[in-house]
Amino acid sequence: MKGVGPKRAQLLETELGVKSIRDLLYYFPYRYIDRSQIFRVNELHPDMQYVQLCGKVSNFHTVGEGRKKRVVATFSDETGQIELLWFKGLKYVETRFVNSAEKVFFIFGKPVFFGGRYSIVHPDIDEHNTLNDTKLVGLQAMYSTTEKMKTSFFNSKALQTIMFSALQKMKENQLPETLPDYLLEKYHFMRINYAIRNIHFPENQDNLKAAQSRLKFEELFYIQLSILQKRQYRERSGGLVFSRIGDAFNNFYKTKLPFALTNAQKRVLKEIRSDVGSGKQMNRLLQGDVGSGKTLVALMSMLMAVDNGYQSCLMAPTEILATQHFQNISELLEGLNLRVALLTGSTKKKERDEISASLKDGSLNILIGTHALIEDTVVFGNLGLVVIDEQHRFGVEQRAKLWQKNNVPPHILVMTATPIPRTLAMTIYGDLRVSVIDELPPGRTPIQTYHYYDNKRNSINNFIRMQVNSGRQVYIVYPLIQESEKMDMKNLEEGYKEVKKVFPEFSVCMVHGKMKPQEKEDEMQKFVRGEAQIMVATTVIEVGVNVPNASVMVIENANRFGLSQLHQLRGRVGRGCNQSYCILMSPYEISSETKKRLEIMVETNDGFEISEADLKMRGPGDMEGTAQSGLPFELRIANLAKDEKVLEFARQVANDILNDDKDLVKPENQILRTQLTKLTRVRTDLSEIS
Ligand code: ADP
Ligand code: MG
Repeated sequence: MKGVGPKRAQLLETELGVKSIRDLLYYFPYRYIDRSQIFRVNELHPDMQYVQLCGKVSNFHTVGEGRKKRVVATFSDETGQIELLWFKGLKYVETRFVNSAEKVFFIFGKPVFFGGRYSIVHPDIDEHNTLNDTKLVGLQAMYSTTEKMKTSFFNSKALQTIMFSALQKMKENQLPETLPDYLLEKYHFMRINYAIRNIHFPENQDNLKAAQSRLKFEELFYIQLSILQKRQYRERSGGLVFSRIGDAFNNFYKTKLPFALTNAQKRVLKEIRSDVGSGKQMNRLLQGDVGSGKTLVALMSMLMAVDNGYQSCLMAPTEILATQHFQNISELLEGLNLRVALLTGSTKKKERDEISASLKDGSLNILIGTHALIEDTVVFGNLGLVVIDEQHRFGVEQRAKLWQKNNVPPHILVMTATPIPRTLAMTIYGDLRVSVIDELPPGRTPIQTYHYYDNKRNSINNFIRMQVNSGRQVYIVYPLIQESEKMDMKNLEEGYKEVKKVFPEFSVCMVHGKMKPQEKEDEMQKFVRGEAQIMVATTVIEVGVNVPNASVMVIENANRFGLSQLHQLRGRVGRGCNQSYCILMSPYEISSETKKRLEIMVETNDGFEISEADLKMRGPGDMEGTAQSGLPFELRIANLAKDEKVLEFARQVANDILNDDKDLVKPENQILRTQLTKLTRVRTDLSEIS
């Protein structure tokens, strides 16, 4: 292609994965600049989004030292001045604008109003004349490029230029249509060739919208088609049948259950019962906010397995949690003549061998453990049900391994307290049936959450003292993030010393991930038994820890945690009948986004609201534990945080088609089959698995 020599071809391939003209045409812009609209400095107002200005740039200079070093310049037009700022690529900026004081530039960015003036951080800058060169007016596409490309002057504009010549060379209908005619007609979708042209060089706003909505639909539609087809296929291929409810379940229900089930728990148990009795393999996702009583549902499902002569296992992400489940469940099952065992990384060889033997001969009913369950040496006699707790903590491959531990795949129940926004539930977990426990056990008082700056330390210490004196226990959590592990460890240890100094009258324990399992367990037990009143910890306690007497959760440097992590941590309190509190501590200087995050925590206890907010603020690729890699294919244009409507529509359409033609054998659906094989060829491995 004209404009693409060996060097650029290489960059396109390694940096963007673009190996052909087709790939290039499917490399979509991330944004459009309306070049037809130019603002003046005196027209700016604080809540404007992105704007284009035209004028001169001068007075480049560097300020600050070390990490705070930045380049500052002045932009001016006839009506006023604003500041331009760069924190990265300083060398490049300094050299690029040498001798350009007389040139006229278009600058583009989001104006920020601060300290009485406007500034734009990392503006896009184009020289006036280069813009005329490309003869492109109106809506201009912006492409993301990598650092490596930028240093070779292969920027968005250069990409746009080669896109232009690629499209010029192409015949009008050269790209084969990728959606069936009947869909194009029924929903008035733009045809592929026209859509591709308009996505790169929009003729106007309307055409751009139409091109975007077709391409987004197509992308999400094929994902849905793929997921739903897999689900159908799996359900048709049969599963174990748990036909009866017997002694284990009934005796537990009648003589052991310490409280009445909530209506939500009852409903979910009915759903599970109907799945496991249906002759299809169950793949169910159980969502329920922290403290909603998922463990009990899991246990009663495992009892259904027992009653039908099958073994079950429950896998938890941490040793602490697995141990706690084991103790909890053993206690609940006492006197019922069932065998339960715990298998973790620190289980001794002798015990391991015993477990192994009783697993094989089928005499062990329930095995609880950590990742250790996945190992090939763990062989079940007849595994019927796999329960995975806090499933977002596990990788896809890990779950798949459990699945393979029986000839006929066992039923799968995955549980999560991290509520999954609807769009993710329909995509990443799209092949699971979803159950929701949307009701907390009675008698809980909602947790009160506060955000304080570090200067309130004394009053908070007084508050902690008051709570402990009235018999409660307190968690104090510090961040421990891999990238800054050393510093964090130091903060934690200093924090621990400080807490001990401030509360000499109390017993303080500490738990973090770097401890030996035994040591961790001992410290944990001190808190569980109430011998320690204050526990200083890292996020190892994030999931599952259950000490109903704890009523205060202090989160240090809460600004460094994500929303769903904060919510998980908060869920460690409010488990008993006492009023509980969550106190978010942060330094005074935090970004407005962080502040917003903490405000959301203060405002709501609702995990679903929080996860929606999280998705909106962070974008789906970034969601904790729900990386986009869970998708059957990558998203190029659709955005799970924004395109919920399109997604729902795409799912509906895919569903209708499969209902009508489950194997896509009708001639008009041939194109769908072809397209699906093309798209999935890359990663069938992952889409097999729930
Ligand atoms: P999670 O859904 O976070 O895993 P758990 O299963 O740990 O929640 O349950 C939280 C607490 O609520 C436990 O102490 C459990 O015994 C208790 N619980 C569960 N179900 C009920 C119920 N129906 N009534 C009262 N308490 C319940
Ligand atoms: Mg739990």
